[in-house]
Amino acid sequence: MLPDYHVHTKLCKHACGEIGEYIDASIKRGMKSIAITDHAPDPSGYDAQCRMEPGEFEYYKKTVLSNRDRMEGGVLFGIEADYYEGCEKNIAPLLESNSFDLILGSVHYIGDWSFDNPDFIHIWESSDVTGVWRSYFKIIRKLVETRMFHILAHLDLPKKFGYRPPENEIAEMAKPVLDLIAEHGMVVELNTAGLRWPAREIYPSTAILAMACERGIPVCFGSDSHCPNETGHEFDKALKTAKEAGYKTAVAFKAGKAAPYPLP
Ligand code: ZN
Ligand code: FE
Ligand code: FE
Ligand code: ZN
Repeated sequence: MLPDYHVHTKLCKHACGEIGEYIDASIKRGMKSIAITDHAPDPSGYDAQCRMEPGEFEYYKKTVLSNRDRMEGGVLFGIEADYYEGCEKNIAPLLESNSFDLILGSVHYIGDWSFDNPDFIHIWESSDVTGVWRSYFKIIRKLVETRMFHILAHLDLPKKFGYRPPENEIAEMAKPVLDLIAEHGMVVELNTAGLRWPAREIYPSTAILAMACERGIPVCFGSDSHCPNETGHEFDKALKTAKEAGYKTAVAFKAGKAAPYPLP
């Protein structure tokens, strides 16, 4: 099975299971490698209810590193870091002073609206959906420009609850963002969590992935597990989707460097 590069743990306060339980469950399922990528602590107090406390990071790091060799292809030391405007000074110290195997970059807020949080789904109802998507991609562009992240996680996350503009408008918004991603050498993640929400689709869509493939943007795979039984979730489907989009290879990470491997 493909390596799973997006795995949370109970440290983020909205997932279940210890680090070791994710590893045990993944080994049992025949997986060779996973990256633990819990939500990064933020000393500014940003979105504190959805991430580990700064004081828990040392435990997180120590536990992941001490479990490194438990899987054939390694348990990787990763993190999912949120980009928001002005976050650099808050999160750069953590990202720069640790030798992460991989850093997922993601956007979960537009202004002070956590647009993918089920508690605030009602805000979608009174929003201009196309406008929300435009604002989202504007923030994604800034994320890419920081060069602080290796992998763009769940690239079309605003579709989570099913609110989306017509396909042609999404394509027109996504193209310049993909150009920028290619220019900055970032990797795009195929994230199967979208299949578990009303979007009923992998992030990003096959159409966006095909445009990513045309631009030579590498891909990797993530389940965005928030429970140990979710690692590797629907990876058969993700593999099929990657191939449909034109991919013949994906990338494996180690110490922040991506190396291609052929898709099975
Ligand atoms: Zn989460
Ligand atoms: Fe995320
Ligand atoms: Fe995540
Ligand atoms: Zn996520």
